[in-house]
Amino acid sequence: MIPTKAYAAYSKSTPLAPFSFERRTPGPKDVQIEILYCGVCHSDIHQARDEWNESMYPMVPGHEIVGRVVAVGSTVHRFKPGDLAGVGVMVDSCRVCKNCASDLEQYCVEGMTGTYNNYGRDGKTITQGGYSTQIVTDEHFVLQISPKLDLKATAPLLCAGITTYSPLRYTQVAKGSKVGVMGLGGLGHMGLKFAAAFGAEVTMISTSAAKEADARRLGAHNFLLSTDEEQMKDYDGYFDVILNTVSAKHSYKRFLDLLTLNGRMIVVGLPAEDPKLKLFALLKNRRSILGSMIGGVRETQEMLDFCAENNIVSDVEVIPIQQINEAYERMIKGDVHYRFVIDMESLRK
Ligand code: NAP
Ligand code: ZN
Ligand code: ZN
Repeated sequence: MIPTKAYAAYSKSTPLAPFSFERRTPGPKDVQIEILYCGVCHSDIHQARDEWNESMYPMVPGHEIVGRVVAVGSTVHRFKPGDLAGVGVMVDSCRVCKNCASDLEQYCVEGMTGTYNNYGRDGKTITQGGYSTQIVTDEHFVLQISPKLDLKATAPLLCAGITTYSPLRYTQVAKGSKVGVMGLGGLGHMGLKFAAAFGAEVTMISTSAAKEADARRLGAHNFLLSTDEEQMKDYDGYFDVILNTVSAKHSYKRFLDLLTLNGRMIVVGLPAEDPKLKLFALLKNRRSILGSMIGGVRETQEMLDFCAENNIVSDVEVIPIQQINEAYERMIKGDVHYRFVIDMESLRK
């Protein structure tokens, strides 16, 4: 077993604090990674605070992991010690069901194994995430990271990146599409970058007037302040696709009204409270809502390769692990520019 230092949530109402545990010794198919950076996703906060009613403690959050391979099992062929590598939101799945066989492990019929706050396939071990010094993961769920990209800014691609890339590809966003992205945070800023890179006309839909200049710098052609009813009216029936990344309670109906004929709202944000919906908002213009969860391993690698080719990374604010509780508070206030990334060196000291 490998002694590992970490930060953990010990309960839903206490701040994250230092924690020590052991990772398994790498088996034949495993890759052991020394974690260099880990992004901070709003899902970490939802789970650390038990907002989805499924939390197990102590919990080491973190599923935007990048680092360097330090050891590999005997049958591992895609990685060798010294390589850069990443781990995202999943560390296992059944591998044989129809969804796993279609490279959609995130929709595994038996349920994927999340990187933390989940039971392993044995139904007993509890997974622990990337706010830690190292991780041991089955090769299938380890991603190759191009040395061309700024490593710390690459970490958020493992969740915020794939979660926005995948549904924008699925809805075939391209030149000629009118796309609205709701919420300029970690997911939102990656959604902006991808939609713009795919050639769409992109509008940032935000509650924060102060984020307009950044939204435009990140690729937005238009900025819609959603708290301004006059501006909202101008966009009634306008968008083909809205990517909704909002993490807190809001009116879904008010934003469905912004969709054109056959328009689709992709829901990726997961507020603690489920919304009430006026169905007329869907019937009008034959609109639909679709949910989307991260992306499969193959598509995650495709996204990372796309980012390496197009020089796309996240805009990050690097913090030592000792500032994690403060970072959570700032994210809840929408004050993140645009992803916190933990420098794991701060945990080794
Ligand atoms: P984040 O960085 O905190 O960004 C969320 C943004 O939502 C904020 O910056 C803010 O943007 C906006 N917002 C916050 N409160 C709002 C309110 N009351 N009304 C309207 N807008 C509000 O969060 P994130 O890491 O991007 O995650 C976003 C959500 O996606 C979370 O719920 C997370 O759990 C979920 N998620 C889902 C998946 C998946 O697979 N589907 C993967 C990862 C994360 P403005 O200031 O611009 O309004
Ligand atoms: Zn996430
Ligand atoms: Zn499966």
